[in-house]
Amino acid sequence: MGKVEVVNGVETFNGEGFQLAMLDKVIAAARANSVWPLPFATSCCGIEYMATMGTNYDVARFGMERMSFSPRQADLLIVAGTISKKLAPILKQVYEQMAEPKWVLSVGACASSGGIFDTYSVLQGIDRVIPVDVYVPGCPPRPEQIIEGIMNVHRLVKHESLRRRYSDEYKHLLTKYNLNEDE
Ligand code: SF4
Repeated sequence: MGKVEVVNGVETFNGEGFQLAMLDKVIAAARANSVWPLPFATSCCGIEYMATMGTNYDVARFGMERMSFSPRQADLLIVAGTISKKLAPILKQVYEQMAEPKWVLSVGACASSGGIFDTYSVLQGIDRVIPVDVYVPGCPPRPEQIIEGIMNVHRLVKHESLRRRYSDEYKHLLTKYNLNEDE
């Protein structure tokens, strides 16, 4: 007789010489525990992100110490800091170059809404050019808040079915942002 066990948050059915689990749950758990972040840091919030990466907070606990400055080898775009309108097309290009599945974390008031910079030159929120999965409030947010944001991304990754990214809803979202899903 086999028995049901939960291993790393994945429900498994174990018997003598075999272990069964849903493939999409195993893939989701693997993804959630090895997210490769791409930090797009432009100003003060970027410094908070650096502190988050440091030994005191240690995101290596979550399998995230490997930062990727190459979009094609990154899963999570972390936008931390003020984004000028001139920089917006570059941000969008970086997002487009990331392979699916990918997630976006907007860190701080500037990235999320333009913050205090309600001016002609500052983008009033990165969700004007790319879809955002999780927002972290604050000016600047403390590393604990950034970690909470990262945990929320992990929750999304763990519960996102393999097919969600190919759903009509997601395709509609990409079309809305004028993003080419094949890139
Ligand atoms: S939200 Fe505040 S701390 Fe973060 S980049 Fe903007 S001004 Fe700096």
